[in-house]
Amino acid sequence: TPLSLSGLGGLKWYRPLTVKYVLELKEKYPNAKLLVGNTEVGVEMRLKRIQYQVFISVTHVPELNMLNVKEDGIEIGAAVRLTELLNLLREVVTQHPAHETSACKAFIEQLKWFAGTQIKNVASVGGNVCTASPISDLNPLWMAARAKFRIINCKGNIRTALAEKFFLGYRKVDLAGDEILLSVFLPWTRCFEYVKEFKQAHRRDDDIAIVNAGMRVCLEEKGEEWVVSDASIAYGGVAPLSLCAIKTKEFLIGKKWNQDVLRGALNVLRTDILIKEDAPGGMVEFRKSLTLSFFFKFFLWVLHQIE
Ligand code: FAD
Repeated sequence: TPLSLSGLGGLKWYRPLTVKYVLELKEKYPNAKLLVGNTEVGVEMRLKRIQYQVFISVTHVPELNMLNVKEDGIEIGAAVRLTELLNLLREVVTQHPAHETSACKAFIEQLKWFAGTQIKNVASVGGNVCTASPISDLNPLWMAARAKFRIINCKGNIRTALAEKFFLGYRKVDLAGDEILLSVFLPWTRCFEYVKEFKQAHRRDDDIAIVNAGMRVCLEEKGEEWVVSDASIAYGGVAPLSLCAIKTKEFLIGKKWNQDVLRGALNVLRTDILIKEDAPGGMVEFRKSLTLSFFFKFFLWVLHQIE
């Protein structure tokens, strides 16, 4: 059953059972906070002392909990928990041709180093996306993997936004006050399209990233050589938002995947990803070298895939 509870000081807590009711509540209370695992909002309230008045817990909304394997990829409801996603991805990689699941494998690897089991059991995909933390471990991967976000507004209209264009600033996303994230679509990778995850933290287990990344390259065989037809290189931990290395992408397209492209791309990356000396988070030299060394690793890994 849907629940509606009131607390001290006018606090309201709703647990709707349909997306229609979620949207009605959102229209009535534009500042209402959607909740799934509460692993971000709980921290904001307890540690940062931020107050919210109205909560909409969307854990029981079927439309937000869908997990569909489709012809062209996977549709993941915004309230799907990370453990559920991980389980589905593990199943999918055993059932689909290997070339289709390069991004799935990257997500599986990244989720291994994402928080602990307890957090992953309750934390949602949409909660991670919409928080837009600059060190989200998944957002650079959604961006690199050509994921699309489906967004619904209070009138029930649905639009689609590319993950690459969704993050606008520090914890700021392309969502209007009357919109919520409905689902995330992860397309299959194509033949000779490779996606890889990266994360460097102080500890391997249950730690936040210093720098992380998602990288993708799509290659075409031309004679004896492999030429880049498309690429995306996205980083976390280098700016107030998850960031695409646009100049590096442009540099890579049309180039042969060899030592020269490696040298060239590292040079472009140095000017593409700039971390100011006084950037929050410190460790500027270390972070700069991580951005380069991730690409170096990616270059070698891709070479290994096409050998
Ligand atoms: P909630 O706290 O429930 O919600 C987060 C935000 O998203 C809220 O503002 C909410 O209103 C909004 N929201 C939720 N659903 C929607 C929707 N459908 N439409 C619009 N807005 C929506 N993050 C990492 O990236 N990597 C880590 O390794 C990591 N480790 C962590 C370890 C710990 C101990 C903790 C406490 C957190 C960690 N996190 C990590 C951050 C956090 O767990 C994730 O971001 C998680 O995915 C958030 O999901 P949630 O369901 O708990 O979000």
